[in-house]
Amino acid sequence: PVWTPSADGPKPGLYPRNEKLDQKISLYTGDITKLEIDAIVNAANNTLLGGGGVDGAIHRAAGPVLKKECASLHGCETGEAKITCGYGLPAKYVIHTVGPIAQGGVGEEQRKALRSCYDNSLKTATEKSARSVAFPCISTGIYGYPPEKAVHEALATVREYLDEHHDKLDRVIFCVFLPMDKELYMQNLPLYFPAA
Ligand code: ADP
Repeated sequence: PVWTPSADGPKPGLYPRNEKLDQKISLYTGDITKLEIDAIVNAANNTLLGGGGVDGAIHRAAGPVLKKECASLHGCETGEAKITCGYGLPAKYVIHTVGPIAQGGVGEEQRKALRSCYDNSLKTATEKSARSVAFPCISTGIYGYPPEKAVHEALATVREYLDEHHDKLDRVIFCVFLPMDKELYMQNLPLYFPAA
């Protein structure tokens, strides 16, 4: 659709109620490394060699073998996604995606890249037949993307992917860590998944 999500949210009626699809959506508050599912998404950096925030938590919980596998992948472009095993994590796979750096502000380039992160992560999951996927709030920590804007890109991209490929996934979990993000997702989830 040509509509661009903004602080006002999506155009009313753009994402109609779809019970089968909306029932696949969960909001989870807490540490993504605890989730026993097929795949968790990591908000990584271009080197894929580990960093702070959720990236650091995932590498600590997975153990040093994760870094070894990541080192063999030769980095990752912004907006792309690469998959590894989960090693010491309860999740089977980690999908590493690199969000845009938005400390200089959010333009069309950052918005597109953030959407690509969600889209390419879901594509990567379905390529490996992973049927449950959890996302952290990509780019909204160290990378500085305003959370109140990022939430719309995250929800719209997942909704649009599921509209096309709902048979390929059983569950998509939005894993929020900060109380502010929990509030933002609780407010905005019904605009994209009215029956969730
Ligand atoms: P980025 O560099 O993409 O901004 P960050 O890791 O700095 O990534 O932040 C992304 C989001 O992940 C933030 O909302 C942060 O609060 C959250 N976060 C940090 N640790 C965890 C964790 N263990 N589980 C889930 N989310 C986390």
